[in-house]
Amino acid sequence: MAFEGLTGRLQNVFSKLRGKGKVSEDDVNEAMREVRLALLEADVNFKVVKEFVAKVKEKSIGTEVMDSFTPGMVIIDIVNKELTELMGGSQAKLAKSNKPPTVIMMAGLQGAGKTTTSGKLAKLLQKGNHRPLLVAADIYRPAAIKQLQVLGEQIKVPVFSLGDQTSPVEIARQAVQHAKDNGLDYVIIDTAGRLHIDEELMEELKQIHNIVNPDEVLLVVDAMTGQDAVNVAESFNKQLELTGVVLTKLDGDSRGGAALSVKAVTGCPIKFAALGEKIDALEPFHPERMASRILGMGDMLSLIEKAQANIDTDKAKEMERKMRNAEFTFDDFLEQMDQVKKLGPIDQILDMLPGMNKAKGIKDLKVDDKQMGRVEAIVHSMTKTEKRQPEIINHNRRKRIAAGSGTSVAEVNRLIKQFDEMRKMMKQFSGMMGGGGKASKKN
Ligand code: GDP
Repeated sequence: MAFEGLTGRLQNVFSKLRGKGKVSEDDVNEAMREVRLALLEADVNFKVVKEFVAKVKEKSIGTEVMDSFTPGMVIIDIVNKELTELMGGSQAKLAKSNKPPTVIMMAGLQGAGKTTTSGKLAKLLQKGNHRPLLVAADIYRPAAIKQLQVLGEQIKVPVFSLGDQTSPVEIARQAVQHAKDNGLDYVIIDTAGRLHIDEELMEELKQIHNIVNPDEVLLVVDAMTGQDAVNVAESFNKQLELTGVVLTKLDGDSRGGAALSVKAVTGCPIKFAALGEKIDALEPFHPERMASRILGMGDMLSLIEKAQANIDTDKAKEMERKMRNAEFTFDDFLEQMDQVKKLGPIDQILDMLPGMNKAKGIKDLKVDDKQMGRVEAIVHSMTKTEKRQPEIINHNRRKRIAAGSGTSVAEVNRLIKQFDEMRKMMKQFSGMMGGGGKASKKN
């Protein structure tokens, strides 16, 4: 995940400040020197760093802060607010035209993730009860049309294509008409990319722009390319008025500099962040949440939103009741794993929890889909009775389950032990909370 290095370094700076009852001007200067280095190392544009540090310093040195009860905390708060400001202050929402369809033009260099992002955006809009249309206007990259069609099929969003012999300008024009005629309220145009910015590309984009008069021109840039991404955004913005930027590949180990510099350098807000290759790995970009993630303060809000959008509340309530009554079985365990998986990769969920990046061992914890798959295979190899009454699973049964699931007896043992401990904990909790179920009566 991006920002890991930066978060670690900033936390070191702040833990020094937090420990002090009084903060002197020298302390602030020293801290700001370290913040400056940390930001530069994270590949943030040097002008942006300079201005940022100057602002934070100015605000931190005032007597109000230095004489406050917890100066360290106040300074962290200042940094948090300035980081948020740096990334645009508040969420820049996607435009919505009064006269549908809303037309979104996607631009970007080849490989930045434009086609993938078009699909993800369509999916996101569809989730918000919209009816998007994807438009295949990249007629040069041989596989681009097919790629978009496959994505469209996957998410059941129509894809408008006129093959690769009609001009992109004409395709875009007809696509908007098609959306109007069919009551589709968003048009997402996947335009051509190039390896480098060139005149021809810009000319074509301008022509498409002139003919469809888009409500949004979103530039897709690859966060892994750091300052290059910012430079690309600056060049595009000079020729084509961008309305927003989509940062992709933030799940990779980019240092995060692009996210922190784009808005300040180009004036264009980041509207979305892509955090993976899967179709639902696109999130609206929230500067305040990103700032708090960068400072290692977690992003509980995004996590809660994800949970609300993906978790079946009736099932969750039923699960809670079972836990309270200690009726939790291996079947429930499987179901719960399914629910957790809907939230996304485990390491990304952990990233959103406050302090997780500092928790010992968590960083090395790799709970990947493969491992989850093994656990599932073990549970699926149990009989119905075994799932309900794990206590009957003796050594012979364990051997059978291991063979059936293609795992080892040691793995089966480990899972059953963890499950037992979980059940014990649930009993204790329900006892403590006066759960009123069987368990608390027994206790
Ligand atoms: P385009 O040439 O700009 O249309 O780029 P594509 O949409 O074809 O994407 C290029 C590659 O980047 C593909 O392999 C995508 O799966 C990958 N990709 C796109 N977005 C992300 C992302 O957010 N994270 C990761 N890890 N890969 C991504």
